[in-house]
Amino acid sequence: MNNYKPNILLIYTGGTIGMVKDFESGVLRAFDFKNLLDKIPELNLLDCNIKSISFKEPIDSSNMNPEYWVQITELIENNYEAFDGFVVLHGSDTMSYTASALSFMLEDMTKPVVFTGSQLPIGHLRTDAKENLITSIQVASLQHDNKPVIKEVCLYFEYKLYRANRTTKINAEHFEAFASSNYPDLAESGVHLKVNKEYVFKPNLKKEVQFHKNLDKNVAIIKLFPGISESLIQSILNTPHLKGVVLETYGAGNCTTQTWFVSLLEKAILNGVHIINVTQCSGGSVIMGHYETSNQLMKIGVISGKDITTEAAITKLMYMLGRQISNQDFKTIFETSLRGEIS
Ligand code: ASP
Repeated sequence: MNNYKPNILLIYTGGTIGMVKDFESGVLRAFDFKNLLDKIPELNLLDCNIKSISFKEPIDSSNMNPEYWVQITELIENNYEAFDGFVVLHGSDTMSYTASALSFMLEDMTKPVVFTGSQLPIGHLRTDAKENLITSIQVASLQHDNKPVIKEVCLYFEYKLYRANRTTKINAEHFEAFASSNYPDLAESGVHLKVNKEYVFKPNLKKEVQFHKNLDKNVAIIKLFPGISESLIQSILNTPHLKGVVLETYGAGNCTTQTWFVSLLEKAILNGVHIINVTQCSGGSVIMGHYETSNQLMKIGVISGKDITTEAAITKLMYMLGRQISNQDFKTIFETSLRGEIS
Protein backbone atom coordinates (compact mmCIF):
# COMPACT_ATOMS: atom_id res chain seq x y z
CA MET A 1 0.00 0.00 0.00
CA ASN A 2 1.45 3.33 -1.04
CA ASN A 3 0.65 6.23 1.27
CA TYR A 4 2.57 8.88 -0.64
CA LYS A 5 0.56 12.06 -1.06
CA PRO A 6 1.71 14.24 -3.95
CA ASN A 7 2.49 17.87 -3.22
CA ILE A 8 0.64 20.28 -5.47
CA LEU A 9 1.36 23.97 -5.87
CA LEU A 10 -1.55 26.14 -6.89
CA ILE A 11 -0.52 29.38 -8.58
CA TYR A 12 -3.24 32.02 -8.77
CA THR A 13 -2.61 34.68 -11.42
CA GLY A 14 -6.12 36.19 -11.56
CA GLY A 15 -9.21 35.85 -13.72
CA THR A 16 -12.85 35.18 -13.00
CA ILE A 17 -12.19 31.92 -11.15
CA GLY A 18 -10.70 33.68 -8.15
CA MET A 19 -13.64 35.89 -7.37
CA VAL A 20 -16.34 35.54 -4.78
CA LYS A 21 -19.60 37.38 -4.37
CA ASP A 22 -19.82 39.50 -1.31
CA PHE A 23 -23.24 38.43 -0.03
CA GLU A 24 -23.94 41.77 1.62
CA SER A 25 -23.04 44.10 -1.23
CA GLY A 26 -23.47 41.62 -4.11
CA VAL A 27 -20.21 42.72 -5.81
CA LEU A 28 -17.51 40.38 -7.09
CA ARG A 29 -14.16 40.70 -5.40
CA ALA A 30 -10.83 38.85 -5.54
CA PHE A 31 -10.68 35.83 -3.32
CA ASP A 32 -8.01 35.47 -0.63
CA PHE A 33 -6.15 32.35 -1.72
CA LYS A 34 -4.42 31.99 1.63
CA ASN A 35 -7.70 30.68 3.03
CA LEU A 36 -8.40 28.43 0.08
CA LEU A 37 -8.99 25.27 2.11
CA ASP A 38 -11.49 27.07 4.39
CA LYS A 39 -13.41 28.39 1.41
CA ILE A 40 -13.46 25.14 -0.57
CA PRO A 41 -13.56 22.38 2.05
CA GLU A 42 -13.90 19.76 -0.71
CA LEU A 43 -10.16 20.23 -1.34
CA ASN A 44 -9.49 18.50 2.00
CA LEU A 45 -10.90 15.32 0.52
CA LEU A 46 -8.28 15.17 -2.22
CA ASP A 47 -5.42 12.75 -1.81
CA CYS A 48 -2.66 15.36 -1.98
CA ASN A 49 -1.08 18.20 -0.06
CA ILE A 50 -1.98 21.58 -1.51
CA LYS A 51 -0.10 24.83 -1.11
CA SER A 52 -1.14 28.01 -2.84
CA ILE A 53 0.65 31.11 -3.95
CA SER A 54 -0.86 34.15 -5.60
CA PHE A 55 0.29 37.04 -7.78
CA LYS A 56 0.60 40.07 -5.49
CA GLU A 57 -1.90 41.81 -7.69
CA PRO A 58 -4.05 39.26 -9.54
CA ILE A 59 -4.85 40.35 -13.08
CA ASP A 60 -7.57 39.97 -15.66
CA SER A 61 -5.82 37.83 -18.26
CA SER A 62 -6.40 40.47 -20.93
CA ASN A 63 -3.50 42.26 -19.22
CA MET A 64 -1.24 39.20 -19.53
CA ASN A 65 2.19 39.70 -21.12
CA PRO A 66 5.55 37.90 -21.52
CA GLU A 67 6.91 39.46 -18.30
CA TYR A 68 4.18 37.65 -16.38
CA TRP A 69 5.01 34.42 -18.30
CA VAL A 70 8.52 34.75 -16.91
CA GLN A 71 7.10 35.25 -13.39
CA ILE A 72 5.03 32.06 -13.68
CA THR A 73 8.07 30.19 -15.03
CA GLU A 74 10.16 31.41 -12.08
CA LEU A 75 7.51 30.33 -9.58
CA ILE A 76 7.60 26.85 -11.09
CA GLU A 77 11.41 26.83 -11.26
CA ASN A 78 11.80 27.88 -7.62
CA ASN A 79 9.36 25.20 -6.47
CA TYR A 80 10.16 22.50 -9.03
CA GLU A 81 11.94 20.10 -6.67
CA ALA A 82 9.51 20.49 -3.75
CA PHE A 83 6.32 19.81 -5.70
CA ASP A 84 5.02 16.94 -7.82
CA GLY A 85 2.62 19.01 -9.87
CA PHE A 86 1.46 22.56 -10.55
CA VAL A 87 -1.98 24.03 -11.19
CA VAL A 88 -2.09 27.54 -12.64
CA LEU A 89 -5.32 29.47 -12.21
CA HIS A 90 -5.63 31.97 -15.03
CA GLY A 91 -8.32 34.01 -16.78
CA SER A 92 -9.66 32.13 -19.77
CA ASP A 93 -9.27 34.98 -22.28
CA THR A 94 -5.55 34.57 -22.91
CA MET A 95 -5.02 31.22 -21.21
CA SER A 96 -4.08 29.46 -24.45
CA TYR A 97 -1.34 32.04 -25.13
CA THR A 98 0.16 31.75 -21.62
CA ALA A 99 -0.10 27.97 -21.52
CA SER A 100 1.45 27.68 -25.01
CA ALA A 101 4.29 30.03 -24.02
CA LEU A 102 4.96 28.04 -20.85
CA SER A 103 5.07 24.81 -22.86
CA PHE A 104 8.08 26.20 -24.74
CA MET A 105 9.70 27.89 -21.73
CA LEU A 106 9.72 24.63 -19.72
CA GLU A 107 11.91 22.19 -21.60
CA ASP A 108 12.32 18.50 -20.69
CA MET A 109 9.88 18.88 -17.83
CA THR A 110 8.80 15.63 -16.17
CA LYS A 111 5.96 17.03 -14.05
CA PRO A 112 2.46 18.28 -14.86
CA VAL A 113 1.54 21.95 -15.17
CA VAL A 114 -2.24 22.23 -15.51
CA PHE A 115 -3.83 25.54 -16.49
CA THR A 116 -7.44 26.11 -15.56
CA GLY A 117 -9.96 28.86 -14.90
CA SER A 118 -13.69 29.26 -15.18
CA GLN A 119 -16.48 31.14 -16.89
CA LEU A 120 -18.24 31.90 -13.57
CA PRO A 121 -16.55 32.97 -10.31
CA ILE A 122 -15.90 30.35 -7.65
CA GLY A 123 -18.44 32.02 -5.37
CA HIS A 124 -21.27 31.80 -7.92
CA LEU A 125 -24.03 29.25 -7.27
CA ARG A 126 -23.81 27.72 -10.75
CA THR A 127 -20.06 27.99 -10.96
CA ASP A 128 -17.92 25.79 -13.20
CA ALA A 129 -14.89 26.79 -11.10
CA LYS A 130 -15.07 24.05 -8.48
CA GLU A 131 -15.12 21.16 -10.93
CA ASN A 132 -12.37 22.72 -13.03
CA LEU A 133 -10.20 23.36 -9.97
CA ILE A 134 -10.78 20.03 -8.23
CA THR A 135 -10.22 17.91 -11.35
CA SER A 136 -7.14 19.95 -12.33
CA ILE A 137 -5.64 19.19 -8.92
CA GLN A 138 -6.51 15.51 -9.38
CA VAL A 139 -4.88 15.50 -12.82
CA ALA A 140 -1.75 17.12 -11.39
CA SER A 141 -1.73 14.49 -8.61
CA LEU A 142 -2.04 11.43 -10.87
CA GLN A 143 0.90 9.12 -10.21
CA HIS A 144 2.11 5.79 -11.48
CA ASP A 145 5.02 4.10 -9.66
CA ASN A 146 5.47 7.33 -7.67
CA LYS A 147 6.00 9.32 -10.89
CA PRO A 148 3.58 11.83 -12.43
CA VAL A 149 1.40 10.42 -15.21
CA ILE A 150 1.20 13.76 -17.04
CA LYS A 151 4.53 15.34 -17.90
CA GLU A 152 3.63 18.41 -19.92
CA VAL A 153 1.83 21.73 -19.85
CA CYS A 154 -1.88 21.13 -20.31
CA LEU A 155 -5.19 22.91 -19.97
CA TYR A 156 -8.25 21.53 -18.17
CA PHE A 157 -11.70 22.97 -18.79
CA GLU A 158 -15.21 21.51 -18.62
CA TYR A 159 -14.41 17.80 -18.28
CA LYS A 160 -11.54 17.76 -20.78
CA LEU A 161 -7.79 17.84 -20.46
CA TYR A 162 -6.01 19.20 -23.53
CA ARG A 163 -2.39 19.64 -24.58
CA ALA A 164 -2.00 23.36 -23.80
CA ASN A 165 -0.26 24.36 -27.01
CA ARG A 166 -3.06 22.80 -29.10
CA THR A 167 -5.85 24.88 -27.55
CA THR A 168 -7.81 27.96 -28.56
CA LYS A 169 -10.55 29.78 -26.68
CA ILE A 170 -13.61 29.30 -28.87
CA ASN A 171 -16.53 30.52 -26.78
CA ALA A 172 -17.06 33.53 -24.53
CA GLU A 173 -20.03 32.13 -22.64
CA HIS A 174 -20.29 28.35 -22.91
CA PHE A 175 -18.69 26.36 -20.11
CA GLU A 176 -16.98 24.42 -22.90
CA ALA A 177 -14.81 27.40 -23.78
CA PHE A 178 -11.79 25.70 -25.35
CA ALA A 179 -11.12 23.42 -28.28
CA SER A 180 -8.18 21.39 -29.51
CA SER A 181 -9.15 20.76 -33.11
CA ASN A 182 -5.91 19.20 -34.28
CA TYR A 183 -5.01 16.97 -31.33
CA PRO A 184 -7.06 14.47 -29.27
CA ASP A 185 -7.97 15.14 -25.62
CA LEU A 186 -5.35 13.94 -23.13
CA ALA A 187 -8.01 12.94 -20.62
CA GLU A 188 -11.75 13.05 -20.03
CA SER A 189 -13.48 13.45 -16.73
CA GLY A 190 -16.69 11.47 -16.34
CA VAL A 191 -17.51 8.88 -13.74
CA HIS A 192 -13.83 8.02 -14.09
CA LEU A 193 -10.90 10.22 -14.92
CA LYS A 194 -9.80 8.54 -18.13
CA VAL A 195 -6.30 9.36 -19.37
CA ASN A 196 -5.66 8.68 -23.05
CA LYS A 197 -2.14 7.43 -22.43
CA GLU A 198 -1.20 7.11 -26.09
CA TYR A 199 -1.58 10.88 -26.55
CA VAL A 200 0.28 12.24 -23.52
CA PHE A 201 3.70 13.77 -24.11
CA LYS A 202 6.65 11.48 -23.45
CA PRO A 203 9.67 13.61 -22.52
CA ASN A 204 13.20 12.28 -22.51
CA LEU A 205 13.51 11.27 -18.85
CA LYS A 206 17.31 11.33 -18.99
CA LYS A 207 17.40 15.06 -19.58
CA GLU A 208 17.39 17.79 -16.94
CA VAL A 209 14.54 20.28 -16.94
CA GLN A 210 15.46 23.71 -18.35
CA PHE A 211 13.70 27.01 -17.77
CA HIS A 212 13.96 29.47 -20.67
CA LYS A 213 13.16 33.06 -19.83
CA ASN A 214 14.23 35.06 -22.87
CA LEU A 215 11.33 35.94 -25.11
CA ASP A 216 11.55 38.33 -28.05
CA LYS A 217 8.49 40.51 -28.52
CA ASN A 218 9.49 41.86 -31.95
CA VAL A 219 6.78 39.84 -33.65
CA ALA A 220 3.43 40.44 -35.34
CA ILE A 221 0.33 38.60 -36.51
CA ILE A 222 -1.17 39.48 -39.88
CA LYS A 223 -4.61 38.07 -40.62
CA LEU A 224 -5.34 38.22 -44.34
CA PHE A 225 -8.74 39.29 -45.66
CA PRO A 226 -9.93 39.88 -49.20
CA GLY A 227 -9.03 43.51 -49.95
CA ILE A 228 -6.15 43.88 -47.48
CA SER A 229 -4.06 46.81 -48.70
CA GLU A 230 -0.44 47.05 -49.76
CA SER A 231 0.14 49.99 -47.43
CA LEU A 232 -1.13 48.06 -44.41
CA ILE A 233 1.14 45.07 -45.06
CA GLN A 234 4.02 47.40 -45.85
CA SER A 235 3.63 49.38 -42.65
CA ILE A 236 3.55 46.22 -40.53
CA LEU A 237 6.60 44.77 -42.28
CA ASN A 238 8.41 48.10 -41.84
CA THR A 239 7.97 48.02 -38.05
CA PRO A 240 11.38 48.78 -36.51
CA HIS A 241 13.20 45.68 -35.17
CA LEU A 242 10.54 43.29 -36.50
CA LYS A 243 11.93 39.75 -36.52
CA GLY A 244 9.00 37.44 -37.11
CA VAL A 245 5.44 37.41 -38.46
CA VAL A 246 2.66 34.86 -38.12
CA LEU A 247 0.69 35.14 -41.35
CA GLU A 248 -2.87 33.84 -41.02
CA THR A 249 -3.76 32.64 -44.49
CA TYR A 250 -6.82 31.00 -46.02
CA GLY A 251 -7.61 27.28 -45.99
CA ALA A 252 -4.57 25.07 -46.55
CA GLY A 253 -2.20 28.07 -46.42
CA ASN A 254 -3.34 30.05 -49.45
CA CYS A 255 -3.06 33.77 -50.15
CA THR A 256 -3.45 36.28 -52.95
CA THR A 257 -1.05 35.90 -55.89
CA GLN A 258 -0.80 39.68 -56.45
CA THR A 259 2.79 40.63 -57.20
CA TRP A 260 3.01 43.46 -54.63
CA PHE A 261 2.05 41.04 -51.85
CA VAL A 262 4.56 38.35 -52.71
CA SER A 263 7.37 40.85 -53.27
CA LEU A 264 6.74 42.58 -49.92
CA LEU A 265 7.03 39.22 -48.16
CA GLU A 266 10.09 38.28 -50.17
CA LYS A 267 11.82 41.54 -49.29
CA ALA A 268 11.05 41.06 -45.59
CA ILE A 269 12.46 37.51 -45.68
CA LEU A 270 15.62 38.74 -47.41
CA ASN A 271 15.92 41.29 -44.57
CA GLY A 272 15.91 38.44 -42.04
CA VAL A 273 12.24 38.47 -40.97
CA HIS A 274 10.81 34.97 -40.38
CA ILE A 275 7.32 34.52 -41.83
CA ILE A 276 5.18 31.65 -40.57
CA ASN A 277 2.19 30.45 -42.56
CA VAL A 278 -0.73 29.33 -40.36
CA THR A 279 -4.30 28.74 -41.41
CA GLN A 280 -7.27 30.87 -40.35
CA CYS A 281 -9.33 27.66 -40.16
CA SER A 282 -9.84 26.26 -36.69
CA GLY A 283 -8.82 22.77 -37.81
CA GLY A 284 -6.60 21.23 -40.46
CA SER A 285 -3.16 22.01 -41.75
CA VAL A 286 -1.21 24.32 -44.04
CA ILE A 287 0.12 22.40 -47.05
CA MET A 288 2.30 24.80 -49.01
CA GLY A 289 2.51 24.01 -52.69
CA HIS A 290 -0.85 22.27 -52.74
CA TYR A 291 -2.38 25.19 -54.66
CA GLU A 292 -0.78 27.75 -56.92
CA THR A 293 -1.81 30.34 -54.31
CA SER A 294 0.65 28.95 -51.77
CA ASN A 295 3.36 27.68 -54.09
CA GLN A 296 4.94 31.12 -54.31
CA LEU A 297 5.13 31.36 -50.51
CA MET A 298 7.10 28.14 -50.45
CA LYS A 299 9.47 29.41 -53.14
CA ILE A 300 10.36 32.63 -51.26
CA GLY A 301 11.12 30.75 -48.01
CA VAL A 302 7.97 31.17 -45.93
CA ILE A 303 7.94 28.72 -43.00
CA SER A 304 5.05 26.25 -42.81
CA GLY A 305 3.21 26.30 -39.49
CA LYS A 306 1.46 23.08 -40.60
CA ASP A 307 -1.38 22.49 -38.10
CA ILE A 308 -0.10 24.76 -35.31
CA THR A 309 -2.50 27.19 -33.61
CA THR A 310 -1.88 30.93 -33.88
CA GLU A 311 -1.35 31.04 -30.09
CA ALA A 312 1.36 28.38 -30.26
CA ALA A 313 2.92 29.91 -33.39
CA ILE A 314 3.33 33.41 -31.94
CA THR A 315 4.72 32.10 -28.63
CA LYS A 316 7.04 29.62 -30.36
CA LEU A 317 8.30 32.52 -32.46
CA MET A 318 9.01 34.65 -29.36
CA TYR A 319 10.70 31.66 -27.71
CA MET A 320 12.88 30.71 -30.69
CA LEU A 321 13.89 34.32 -31.32
CA GLY A 322 14.70 34.63 -27.61
CA ARG A 323 17.00 31.62 -27.91
CA GLN A 324 18.72 33.26 -30.87
CA ILE A 325 18.33 30.29 -33.18
CA SER A 326 20.40 31.00 -36.31
CA ASN A 327 18.67 32.05 -39.54
CA GLN A 328 20.05 28.94 -41.15
CA ASP A 329 18.33 26.56 -38.71
CA PHE A 330 15.23 28.61 -37.95
CA LYS A 331 12.93 27.17 -40.62
CA THR A 332 13.81 23.54 -39.90
CA ILE A 333 13.41 23.94 -36.15
CA PHE A 334 10.15 25.87 -36.44
CA GLU A 335 8.70 23.18 -38.69
CA THR A 336 9.69 20.51 -36.15
CA SER A 337 7.55 19.63 -33.13
CA LEU A 338 9.32 20.80 -29.97
CA ARG A 339 6.57 20.11 -27.40
CA GLY A 340 3.93 18.31 -29.44
CA GLU A 341 2.53 21.55 -30.90
CA ILE A 342 2.77 20.34 -34.51
CA SER A 343 1.65 16.98 -35.94
N1 ASP B 1 -11.62 38.36 -18.54
C1 ASP B 1 -11.38 37.21 -17.72
C2 ASP B 1 -9.91 36.86 -17.83
O1 ASP B 1 -9.50 36.30 -18.81
C3 ASP B 1 -12.23 36.07 -18.15
C4 ASP B 1 -11.99 34.80 -17.38
O2 ASP B 1 -11.40 34.78 -16.32
O3 ASP B 1 -12.42 33.75 -17.85
O4 ASP B 1 -9.17 37.14 -16.94
